[in-house]
Amino acid sequence: MEINIDKGSGFCFGVINAIKVAEEQLEQHGKLFCLGDIVHNSKEVERLKAKGLIIINHQDFENLYNTRLLIRAHGEPPKTYSIARENQIQLIDASCPVVLKLQNKIKKSYEELSEFAGQVVIFGKEGHAEVNGLTGQTGNNAIVVGSGLENLDKIDFSKPITLFSQTTQNKEQYEDLIKLIKERMMQKNCNPDKKLQVSRSICGQVSNRGPHLAKFAKDHDLIIFVSGKKSSNGKYLFDICHQNNPNSRFISEKEELRNGWFDNVMKVGICGATSTPMWLMEEIAVEIRSY
Ligand code: SF4
Repeated sequence: MEINIDKGSGFCFGVINAIKVAEEQLEQHGKLFCLGDIVHNSKEVERLKAKGLIIINHQDFENLYNTRLLIRAHGEPPKTYSIARENQIQLIDASCPVVLKLQNKIKKSYEELSEFAGQVVIFGKEGHAEVNGLTGQTGNNAIVVGSGLENLDKIDFSKPITLFSQTTQNKEQYEDLIKLIKERMMQKNCNPDKKLQVSRSICGQVSNRGPHLAKFAKDHDLIIFVSGKKSSNGKYLFDICHQNNPNSRFISEKEELRNGWFDNVMKVGICGATSTPMWLMEEIAVEIRSY
């Protein structure tokens, strides 16, 4: 049986940077607080916790004083920065530059649109850390439309709209939403060519992996896709594998592998999300080889 690990899978540069920063801090100080899971992968989180990383939620953060805290690649809303100032917390900011750029763009758009009673709409998962950071740029006034078209009816289609996407969303679904918004605007006699601005803000680290994974999935008899269950781009990339190879399995750890999956299989492909560590995919390859 041939086993191949996809070389294009594994951490994106935003996550690589956040982990590098965390490890440097831990080496220097032995302990570091982090606001939320540093990466949507429990195995990697456990590894860093063993080195001294302490994961806290936003409620814990409000009661934290005089210490150092890491902001992960997802970024944070302005409120987090003001609480840190009040509580004398030194922020180690590992927000991904791509996310920071998007936050700034949204902030600017919101300020400009306010003059014309326009709306900022974000295609993303409500409550997701990155989305909270993005809506925070608009005083939480942005309308978040999910993949199930949640909140779509909150948009006033007769008024100007600027549309953004969470960086890890599904590209095809975003294009469908753009089309739908244009149709609804036309129904309200609002010209989308003039009143709709679209920012194609899905990160290249996610969208470029789609076509590559589609080919990888087709080239193998069985795909073992490794990702944390909470990862948005994990779900997106797994769907691509599954569409191109129905014999695709989603697992988070080697214990979820089943012997029966490998019957009559000649070529196994192991791949994962932007939050999947390479060491975990290698560990899974070793386990499969032992069958
Ligand atoms: S997926 Fe893109 S935007 Fe998100 S953390 Fe990674 S590099 Fe940054």
